This record gives sequence, C-alpha cells and structure tokens, in this order.
Amino acid sequence: MMGHEFAGEVVEVSGSVDRSLVGQKVAVNPLVSCGKCRYCRSGLRNLCIEREIIGVNYPGGFAETVDVPAYSVYRVRDTLNGSFSEPPLATALRAVRKSGIEPGGDRVLIIGGAGTIGLFALELARKAGADIVAVVEKNAKRAMIAREWGGADLSLPPEALQDRDFDVAIDAVGFSSTRRMAVERVRRGGGTVVFLGLHEPKAEVNGNSIVRDEVSISGSFCYSDEDFSRAVDMINRGTVLRESSWYRVEALENGQDAFRRMLAEDADVSKTVLRVEG
Ligand SMILES: [Zn+2]
Repeated sequence: MMGHEFAGEVVEVSGSVDRSLVGQKVAVNPLVSCGKCRYCRSGLRNLCIEREIIGVNYPGGFAETVDVPAYSVYRVRDTLNGSFSEPPLATALRAVRKSGIEPGGDRVLIIGGAGTIGLFALELARKAGADIVAVVEKNAKRAMIAREWGGADLSLPPEALQDRDFDVAIDAVGFSSTRRMAVERVRRGGGTVVFLGLHEPKAEVNGNSIVRDEVSISGSFCYSDEDFSRAVDMINRGTVLRESSWYRVEALENGQDAFRRMLAEDADVSKTVLRVEG
C-alpha cells in the first residue's frame, strides 16, 4: 500500500467541521468505512465489509494536500512521529493484545520482528511484561535494529529455532513457512499464535497437532478505532518511540529510490518516511 500512513497539518475544513482544527497537526486513520454496519457501530471499522483505505482507494499522503473525512483525524504533537501511529503501532497494539501476553515469565517469539510492525510488537510485548522476546528476522541489518529496540534476547535465523518453548508467537510476515513456524514453536497446552502478516492467502499448517497440542490461533487485522487512538496517545506521550537509526526521512521526490532501497534484500532501515517539502 502506498501513502496510507501519514500525518500533516489541517489547512482547510469544509461544511460543519470544527474550524479549530485548522492549523492543527494530525495523524490520519486511513480506514474509510460504511458507518452503518454492526462492526462500524461498535468501533470495529477494520472489519467493515465496505472498508476502503485512503492511499489505496482514494488519493493518499504522497501529495501536498489530501482530502480526508473529519472522523479520521487525531491530533498529534509532531507530524513525523504521528505518521508512525498507523499502521505499525495500532496494528501491533491489536496483535499484542490478542496474544494475551502476561506479565512475568511469558516467552514471546516475533517472526518478521524487525519490520516496523514487528519492532512495535517487540516493544509492546516488553511493556506487557513478557520475560523473553525473541525475534526471527532474516535481514541481518534489521535484526541488529531489533536488538537495539526491546533488547531482543534472541535474534535468530529461522533454521536455528528448534524448540517449542514459547508461550506466544506472533507472525508478522504471513508466508506458509512463517505461519507453520509460529504454530510449531509455541508450547503444548495453551500456546497462543497470532497471525497478522498477509503475504500468502493460504497456508498449510498441521491441523492435527493444533488439536492434539491445544494451540490457540487468532487472526489480527489492522486496528479498531480504539487501537488507533491508543496508538496516537502513546506516540503523543512518547512512550514507545525509540531514538535510533530504525527509520530514515527522505524528500517525497526521492520516493522511488527510497522504495527501491527498502525492497532490497539488505535494506538497512525498517521504515522510510517521505516528507513533502513546502
Ligand atoms: Zn461498516
């Protein structure tokens, strides 16, 4: 997806929208939904069947101005940090909550742990009280970033993982192989797996062992309105972001180049933020 994670300043409002928003720095929740179905009415707009996304179905943030519905803006202190509230933080918040990580002793495995969502999941798992957070990340430079972040105790190539002594596994990638790894690495009797990556539509996992080993699997998609506002709060309070070399800011004109570098095997940052000069 392109240009759906963004923040900026309100330059104009229309109709009955509160005029005091003009001049405010805001982050934008890019989910656009019907507003009427049972999911929308209960704040679960991520599950609305008519869900659309600004930046996919509508022009997004790679522009000097963008039109967004008034309900989608959240005040932020800083537009750079504000752009991190979605989806990485809000998405990670939802997944970590669904994982039920408990303080004191939980061992957590995060697969794809040095992508942006993975990094936030790592940080949130720590804050939720996980004892050990291990990260699987095949890009060595990004694995280093994961170690700088929540101080992952293990940053391992996938083949090094043999044991199934994790209480929780979060798959932020979504390949058949990573989903299988998640299922096979959690403990018998109550191990919890959260799938949030979406790389492959179908995955083959061992159904019988899910039954016999009593593994719980949960999907986690995007974020609810509540997750998004919690993410914005955390960003505004500065409780999650780390000063580090995990992201790079570039001018929008260099976008194409920046994307090429992000997609390279040896990408050295987890995120690139494109800034509209003006
Ligand atoms: Zn709806």
